[in-house]
Amino acid sequence: MESTLRRTWAEIDLDALAHNYHTLRRRVGPNVKFLGVVKADAYGHGSVQASRLLQELGADYLAVSSIDEAEELRRGGITMPMLILGYTPADQVGKLIDLQITQAVTSAEAARAYSAAAVCHGGTLKIHIKVDTGMSRLGFQCAGALFDGAVAAICDACRLPGLDSEGIFTHFAVSDEEDEESHRYTQGQFDLFCRCIAAVEEKLGRPFALRHCSNTGAVAHWPETYLDMVRPGLLLYGCGEFAEELGLRPVMTLKTTVSAVKDYAPDTSISYGRRFVTSRPTRMGVVPYGYADGFFRCLSNNCALLTPQGLAPVRGRICMDMCMIDLTDLPGVQVGDEVEIFGAHNSVNDLASAAGTISYELLTAVSKRVPRIYLRGGKEIGRELLLRF
Ligand SMILES: *Cc1c(COP(=O)(O)O)cnc(C)c1O
Repeated sequence: MESTLRRTWAEIDLDALAHNYHTLRRRVGPNVKFLGVVKADAYGHGSVQASRLLQELGADYLAVSSIDEAEELRRGGITMPMLILGYTPADQVGKLIDLQITQAVTSAEAARAYSAAAVCHGGTLKIHIKVDTGMSRLGFQCAGALFDGAVAAICDACRLPGLDSEGIFTHFAVSDEEDEESHRYTQGQFDLFCRCIAAVEEKLGRPFALRHCSNTGAVAHWPETYLDMVRPGLLLYGCGEFAEELGLRPVMTLKTTVSAVKDYAPDTSISYGRRFVTSRPTRMGVVPYGYADGFFRCLSNNCALLTPQGLAPVRGRICMDMCMIDLTDLPGVQVGDEVEIFGAHNSVNDLASAAGTISYELLTAVSKRVPRIYLRGGKEIGRELLLRF
């Protein structure tokens, strides 16, 4: 790993993560629980390290997307409650119970299969009921004429043996969008969710302990949706359009190094496909960051990386393992200089919008050969590299 370290690496600022957590905690207030979403290896930041910190800081719950992600956290010493948002096959229920992992239940069939498996295992599976209020992905569909059937099916699921229905949740489709139509849609989803909860609780004769729906957009702009627990992901990592307005800090800074500098005459074509041709004497740097590290090839000729002297435009096609940056106007930049790809000074949001995508995609694309360096109090406290040695 030492050998790959000075190539391209991701610095994970755990102080920024703590700052973001405390800031969001203050925002939601003392009566709302906090679930940190750490799926997809904590959005590329490293889920074990991120979860350890959230556990230490007193977060109430974590969420992951699969049983493998949950198991990785249990093996990493994370003991706090943990919810799997996605699908788990019923034959894994014994393991869920043994590892004390909570499972989302998204349909009547899944509820019956989990119940049978839990009874067979001789234990109780903690579940959160997932309600589809308009995301049209997973969950009990409850809009319009389907409402009464959904309420009945959710009640049936909650009464099955071997299941402990601790929570109920839904997911917003456009809580991060500002236009009036999106606003109406989110309000509609929330109202439907509340009506569904009320009907189910009335029929069951008991309340759910944890009702939750606030993702990043809702934590930022929909305080009335906090209910018992909020469920942000991206905000924790300090990225996206709302992070800045809430005073959050980016946790990941992705860095690389100038590995070569060369001079070219005018009229020289650069890289595959000859998509950039120099128009003047040009000083070009090579950095070892390419699409196999998580760069997006569609950013060729369409973004800039931050050198110690300022922004250097990326020139020509981005390659698998490297790309070229124009240093003609940055004569002070030398071989060995650090370059920030995105992070504390060069926002991932800018790179994402240049690529026509969202920061989520750039963060989770940072590949396994990029080492993660964990920093706390300005000191390195850990390193991880996901390559198999
Ligand atoms: C990913 C996810 C979240 C977190 O979304 P952000 O936009 O990152 O806050 C919350 N809930 C569910 C169900 C998710 O899948």
